Amino acid sequence: MKRTLSVLILALCIFLTSCKAEEEKTSLSFYAMDTIMSIDTYGENSESASLAKERVLSLEKLFSVTDENSELFALNESGSEELGKETLELIKYALDMSEKTDGALDPTIYPVLREWGFTVGEYKIPDSETLSALLKNVGTDKVHINENSVSLDSGVMLDLGAVAKGYASEECYKILKENNLSSALINLGGNIRLLGSRPDGNPWRIGVADPLSPSDNLGILSVTDCAVVTSGNYQRYFEENGKTYGHIIDPKTGFPADNDLLSVTVISDSGTLCDALSTALFVMGSEKAEQFWRDNKNFEAVFVLKDNTVHVTEEIYGSFSLENKDFELKIIQ
Ligand code: AMP
Ligand code: MG
Repeated sequence: MKRTLSVLILALCIFLTSCKAEEEKTSLSFYAMDTIMSIDTYGENSESASLAKERVLSLEKLFSVTDENSELFALNESGSEELGKETLELIKYALDMSEKTDGALDPTIYPVLREWGFTVGEYKIPDSETLSALLKNVGTDKVHINENSVSLDSGVMLDLGAVAKGYASEECYKILKENNLSSALINLGGNIRLLGSRPDGNPWRIGVADPLSPSDNLGILSVTDCAVVTSGNYQRYFEENGKTYGHIIDPKTGFPADNDLLSVTVISDSGTLCDALSTALFVMGSEKAEQFWRDNKNFEAVFVLKDNTVHVTEEIYGSFSLENKDFELKIIQ
């Protein structure tokens, strides 16, 4: 009897603790970097979410390709600029990841992207002469860095859209951690950065969208203190003559990446790495991307393929539950 009573009291305490934690959730939503963002914090120190938001807005002012006052805009306009440390570091990071991914990620893709209309949403299919002329200006060897000044060969322009949100999510994470928060969910337009576990001590449950029906979850990842970033051409696209054209461009062809993949989700302890890799692996296609994982192993991944299979890397396999039974799960080793 005594034992039953203490079990009941313990259960009640756990229940009350989790209710208390749920009550203390503060959600801050805002629009930045062309997408909806939210920061969920738990506990007393919710004003640190505002600091994180301010940080994202200040980064947007540096990295935006469309804001005439941004550092990146100035560089693209003049072709040569002295840059602040942060913009310089992110450019260097993107160039380095371009080399590591054999050009699948390439920040110099911007003139091509712009021609497709993805930057401003005025979509069109470029003609082949225009595309091949623009592709001549794509390549990281056309970017020159000397201390803090960057110069671009004629016709070359940079876009940090594939890495900026991931970098910003990592910055938010740092701010919340420095402010002694132990539990938070940062969602910068699908770039998720998790601080700690849920307030009740359980892992976060992060949905991996079904690319064919993005409001539904294809599966759930149960994870703690990591970044989770998904890329796919279902996220931003336009349709013409019954064909869809997505926003992730294969720098080798100048056309939207079109291979056996529907989406790539990358999980690691760096939001910046996850963001860079999810875009790059999406361009590579499953075979090359899975080999990239085998060669590097500094991240985990969930690949959703057009043949209705979901390929999940070994380490994360146990944390992924498939919700959509039309798909078949496979382990990558
Ligand atoms: P993400 O949503 O992180 O996968 O990044 C996609 C965004 O990165 C696009 O909207 C473009 O701004 C840019 N982008 C598209 N293709 C590439 C590419 N191959 N390399 C670098 N950036 C790209
Ligand atoms: Mg990315």
